[in-house]
Amino acid sequence: MTITARQFMVDTQLRARGISDPRVLDAMLRVPRDAFVSEPYRAEAYEDHPLPIGDDQTISQPYVVAVMLESLQLAPKDIVLEVGTGSGYVTALLAELAAQVFSIERHPALAANARTAIAALGYTNVQIFAGDGTLGLPAHAPFDAILVSAAAFKLPPALLSQLRDGGRMIVPVGPPDSQQLQLIRMHNGQPIISLRDPVRFVPLISDQT
Ligand code: SAH
Repeated sequence: MTITARQFMVDTQLRARGISDPRVLDAMLRVPRDAFVSEPYRAEAYEDHPLPIGDDQTISQPYVVAVMLESLQLAPKDIVLEVGTGSGYVTALLAELAAQVFSIERHPALAANARTAIAALGYTNVQIFAGDGTLGLPAHAPFDAILVSAAAFKLPPALLSQLRDGGRMIVPVGPPDSQQLQLIRMHNGQPIISLRDPVRFVPLISDQT
C-alpha cells in the first residue's frame, strides 16, 4: 500500500473531521495499517471502517483510533497500557507516541500475530501479553495512560488503580449497542470522567466473571 492511500486517509478521515494533534497525525501517516490486516482485506486497509482480523474481532476504524489517541495527550516519555491488542495496529501507534507500551490480548493467536507484525516493523519498545486485560499489569503499573480497545460494561477497577496521578484512560463504556468513550483523568486519587464520542466496540470479556 502506498503512502498516498495513507495520506488520503489522514487528510479526509482525520484532519477533515477535526483531528489536529500533529503527533497523532504524523504517527498515523507513518504506521502502515495494511501490515495489520490479512490479505483479503489489504486493499481496504485505508478505508473508513473497521475490518475483520480473525477470532470474531476487528481492527478499529482509523478515525476512532485517532480520537482515542488524541484524547490521551501522550508525551514521548509516557508508559502506556493497552487492553485489547487485536491486530496490533494501535499498539504500533502507541509505540510511536510513547516510551514504552505494554499490551494485553485475551486471544493467544491474535497476540502472537500482533507480536509478529510489531516485530516486523522494528518496534523495540512494546511487550504483548496474552491474558485478561481487565486485571491490567500490576507488575508494570502505574501507567501514564491506558487505552482500552473493547467495550466495558463498567469501568474495570483494577485499571483505575493502575493509573498514576495525572494519568489518563480512554475506554468505551456501555452495553453492546450504545457505548460512549469515557476519558478519565486521575486527580489526587479521584477519577475525573468526561464523556466523549459515541462508539461501537466488541465487548471487553473478563475471564473473572
Ligand atoms: N485496537 C485493536 C482493536 C481490536 S478489537 C485493533 O485495532 O486491532 C478488541 C480486542 O480486545 C479483541 O482482539 C479482543 O479479543 C480483545 N479483548 C476483549 N476482552 C479482552 C480482555 N478482557 N483482555 C484482553 N483483550 C480483550
